[in-house]
Amino acid sequence: MSEPLATLASMREALDAGAASSVDLVEGCLARARAAQDALHAFAGLREEGARAEAAAADARRASGARRSPLDGLPVAIKDNMVQTGEPTTCASRILEGFVSPYAATVVERLERAGAIPIGRTNMDEFAMGSSTEHSVYGAARNPWDRARTPGGSSGGSAAAVAAGLVPGALGSDTGGSIRQPASLSGVVGLKPTYGRVSRWGLVAFASSLDQIGVMAHTAADCAWLLEAIAGHDPRDSTSLPEPVPRYGETLDGDVSGLVLGLPREYFVEEGVDPEVLSTVRAAVSELERAGAKLREVSLPHTRYAVATYYLIATAEASSNLARYDGVRYGHRAAGVRDLTEMYHRTRSEGFGAEVKRRIVLGTYVLSAGYYDAYYRKAQQVRTLLRRDFEEAFRGCDAIATPTTPETAFRIGSKTADPLTMYLSDVYTVSANLAGIPGISVPCGFAQGLPVGLQLLGRVLDEATLLRIADAFQARTDHHARRPAEAP
Ligand code: GLN
Repeated sequence: MSEPLATLASMREALDAGAASSVDLVEGCLARARAAQDALHAFAGLREEGARAEAAAADARRASGARRSPLDGLPVAIKDNMVQTGEPTTCASRILEGFVSPYAATVVERLERAGAIPIGRTNMDEFAMGSSTEHSVYGAARNPWDRARTPGGSSGGSAAAVAAGLVPGALGSDTGGSIRQPASLSGVVGLKPTYGRVSRWGLVAFASSLDQIGVMAHTAADCAWLLEAIAGHDPRDSTSLPEPVPRYGETLDGDVSGLVLGLPREYFVEEGVDPEVLSTVRAAVSELERAGAKLREVSLPHTRYAVATYYLIATAEASSNLARYDGVRYGHRAAGVRDLTEMYHRTRSEGFGAEVKRRIVLGTYVLSAGYYDAYYRKAQQVRTLLRRDFEEAFRGCDAIATPTTPETAFRIGSKTADPLTMYLSDVYTVSANLAGIPGISVPCGFAQGLPVGLQLLGRVLDEATLLRIADAFQARTDHHARRPAEAP
């Protein structure tokens, strides 16, 4: 086997041993990102000058014996829907063309405070609406395991960048699976924290009651570092939780003995899932059992309503959130218009892509008088039932194990003509967002040569248990250390 790709931890060791400088690491990432861009479209843009200057500053800090955090001097990437001072933020949309942010998202500020160095902004589905990173003005991102396939979405650029070794860690956002699904399809670890664990200040809103920022890397241990850096209360986000942030890295002791893993009956049915994906996930669960975990069947009876519920609530919130792109304040404005109404109309027609328009129309419909009770209110009621399903299940187990996705990475172009099929890629991931609970996807094997992810769902604010199980699994397996064909 070829050498595994660098992790945050291995880069940290190289810095500490004096084997590399932060400038070396950042230059290496920038060079690989540039070289892979035409093949993978992982980035919306690179931040060459800023990153170089920050790397030099980190080297100077280290030379003087100071260190801000374990992430100090290490390169990371940011999804193009989190703002960074002086950097373009486009959400891969034409409507935000030319927008340069005057301020930074809390997560970006916190990463910078920890000394991490954002080297670029990653490609995504427009406004994070999608499961394949095909709805992007930058062109479809591609899967480093097979370039004809999607890396997943909407954080597909972050997933592809980490999977191909362009950068060791990245931020993503997850409204219905957009961190976990691309992590699964690209063979990396992706963690969506509890709703409110990480501040959404400076994250461009898609569906505000579901959106959550999270982390992607090769290992659970690297994810623990990243999460520790970005998590915690923020007075600028009223939904952020006041609870203190645990030292996630310190709870990774490789021990899962005695932990009870729930296996939801409704997620282990043969229907609608690739049998090889299912058997790979079952084998991963057995590996955890050999490590000492206890298995128990649980039930999440309202699962079959989750996708419908999600697509009602997410589109309703999106239609409201996206009303602000009117050509007045940000980005694109249609030229040669005669009056305000025409400006709104043409700006939005020209600026939004087809999928975003579809969501706005759907969301406006489900919120409109006469349909509100039948769709939106009903969806809110079912959301409560889904949340209760998890509360009930967690009475009998410490974490829940499921496949992350029903199939491995699909071919680019194979689902764009049929949005409903695309929406079904999210069957296993949307419930965690509706319930507000944390979820992680960890590489657990391969089917037809493509990565498969094991999803672990946890109790509210119990990211530590998910990271602990994922870390123990990685200590016993080496799926995460395999290198994709397309890694430069
Ligand atoms: N694929 C889902 C959607 O299209 C989830 C997106 C996300 O989590 N941002 O809405």
